[in-house]
Formats: sequence, structure tokens, C-alpha cells
Amino acid sequence: LRAAETLREQGFTGSLTMIGDEPYEPYDRPPLSKQALLGRARPEDTALPRRRDIDAEWCLGVAAESLDRAAKQVRLANGDTVPYDRLLITTGTRARPWFHPEEAALDGVFGLRTRDDSARLRRKLTGGVSRVLVIGAGFTGSEVASACRELGLQVTVAERGPAPLVGALGGVIGAVADRLQRKHGVDLRCGVSVTALEGDDVGRLRRAHLSDGSAIDVDVAVVSLGAMRNTEWLAGSGVAAGPRGIACDAGCRVFDVNGIVTDDIYAVGDVARSPHPLFDYQFLALEHWGNAVEQAEIAAHNMLCAGPDRRPHLWLPMFWSTQFGV
Ligand SMILES: Cc1cc2nc3c(=O)[nH]c(=O)nc-3n(C[C@H](O)[C@H](O)[C@H](O)COP(=O)(O)OP(=O)(O)OC[C@H]3O[C@@H](n4cnc5c(N)ncnc54)[C@H](O)[C@@H]3O)c2cc1C
Repeated sequence: LRAAETLREQGFTGSLTMIGDEPYEPYDRPPLSKQALLGRARPEDTALPRRRDIDAEWCLGVAAESLDRAAKQVRLANGDTVPYDRLLITTGTRARPWFHPEEAALDGVFGLRTRDDSARLRRKLTGGVSRVLVIGAGFTGSEVASACRELGLQVTVAERGPAPLVGALGGVIGAVADRLQRKHGVDLRCGVSVTALEGDDVGRLRRAHLSDGSAIDVDVAVVSLGAMRNTEWLAGSGVAAGPRGIACDAGCRVFDVNGIVTDDIYAVGDVARSPHPLFDYQFLALEHWGNAVEQAEIAAHNMLCAGPDRRPHLWLPMFWSTQFGV
């Protein structure tokens, strides 16, 4: 949405097609693990504010299934094809599922990425459950644990690392997050993994088994094991896309599989990874809201202008989170 708005702001008058596999117009994800779980915002009220009219054709509820670079077209799951002069890929990430499909299918096991996930989880949390297990203490897991405590629920957080948020923020802030969770009544168990989820005979989650040999009775498990990049649909397209994201230059132009930069395909947001001069030109993938917005504006600008006027995406990595009143 931000890219589309920027294209129009910068004078693009041609045709613009927006493709999205969710049935909804673009919405905000950060409230889904915070205000929406607490009932302070409804998931259906999280539509992103519009800065301007984008005069686009919308193909919603239909996935892009493949990319044909030679023909310059995207094929959709319903068989339609959409031609392009410039393509911007912003397919983001999805929640990493629980590794055991039968256990993942138990009633009471949740992931959290979409508006529908958040609405389902809120219904469950406010429907008379008492004991919640959060698997993984990254940002989403820690925020869900915080919301559960605010809702008055007993919550256990199981984290394989030595402290919450340690992967993103390191040991010093991890120790602060550890104290914060315990102070707010979280049963925090670090250095352990959940090894199995057990259901009763009607398929409802009842118990979780941990790597230290313990087991806990739970009604709900929220799987918060990070994200997987939505790049599978690009298999065979010849662009440099894989589990680590889509490689692009600092101007958001996608590389092909030979490491040659394309000039008509761009990628931004959670799915993109690009070299950053501040970090020795390492390819960084940043899964944060502010990055997605700024990179989208840069890509839109670069999609419209010639070489010397292009701008690099040199964002200083930053994010926010709200947990336990902090
Ligand atoms: C619960 C939650 C809380 C968050 N909280 C914060 C926070 O507090 N602070 C912060 O900085 N960031 C936060 N984030 C991260 C932030 O929301 C993301 O960085 C941002 O949404 C990335 O935007 P995006 O457009 O790159 O991808 P997305 O928002 O993931 O959008 C990608 C869209 O593409 C669709 N799609 C995927 N594949 C296809 C396909 N083949 N065809 C068509 N459509 C497809 C997806 O369904 C999705 O709708 C949070 C994320 C979540 C899930």
C-alpha cells in the first residue's frame, strides 16, 4: 500500500494492480498481538489508513502462483495472468508452524500472523480457558504472554535460549526481559524446548511435554517460533529467492539466480534482504514495520526513475514492541 501510494504521489499515471492472497485490504499487524488480543481494537478495524487514493485494480483473495520473467507476467492461482512493466514483490512472511502436523491440528494450538489468527486466538483466550503455554519468547511470544497476563490467565513461556528476546536483543536486555516476565507472574522456563503436544480423545490440547522431562497441563498453546519467508511461489522463476528471502540491491532491485541485478523486479519488506553499508554490506532481512514502510517508498521512487536519481535503502534497523506495560 505504501509503495502504491508513493507511485501515485510521484506522478505515476499508468495502470496499477494490487495482488493479495488474503481477502482483506492491507491492514496493520502490530496490534494483532497487543490491542486486538486485549479487546481494545477489533482485528477487523486494523485496516491501514490511506494517505491518498491509489486508483488500483485489486485482486484480493487470490495468490500469485508463478512469475514468468521472459513474458513479464505473474500467474495467479485462479489461472489469470497479470502483465507488468515493473513488478514489486512484498509477499512477507508467515508464522513458522508447529513441526508435528497432527499435534498442530489439535484444538487449542494457535499461530499468530494474520487478522483471522488474532480473532481466533482472542475468542479462545476469552472463552473460559485458564492455562496457556507460549512456545518461544521472541517478540510475538512475549507480547502474547503479556496479553494473557493482562487477561488474568496463567501463562507458561517455554524458550530454548537463555532468556526472552535474546536472539534479537542479546543477553543484557534479555535479562531485563526475563525479570519483567517473572515480575508479571509468567511461569518462564528458559533453556528448554517443548518436545510434544498431547491431546485428549476428542482432539483437544491437554498437555505439553518439555525437554527437561516435565509436563504441564494446558488448554492453549501459542506457537511463536518466528517466521518463514513467502518465496516458494518464485521457484523456477530465475530470481534469487529462497528460505532466507529475496536478494536485492540497496535500491530494492531483485537479483537473478546468477547474481545479476534485474531492472524491472523489486522486492521490499519482510521478504527482502539487501546489503547494508553500516554492516559491511551484509545482506540484512529486517522483519519490522518501519523498515517495510520506508523500503516501499524507496522502491516506488526507484521504479519510476532512471539510474542516477535512484536512492538506496539505508535504514537504521529499529523497531518497537509493547510488553508488560513497557
Ligand atoms: C503479530 C505481529 C506483531 C507485530 N508487531 C510489530 C511491532 O510491534 N513492531 C514492528 O516494528 N513490527 C511488528 N511486526 C512486524 C510487521 O508487521 C511486519 O514487519 C510488516 O507487516 C511487514 O510488511 P510486509 O508488507 O513486508 O509483509 P506482510 O505484512 O507479511 O504482508 C505480506 C502479504 O502478502 C501476502 N502474500 C504472501 N504470499 C503471497 C502470494 N504468493 N500471492 C499473493 N499474496 C501473498 C500475505 O498473505 C500478506 O498479506 C509484527 C508482526 C506480527 C505478525
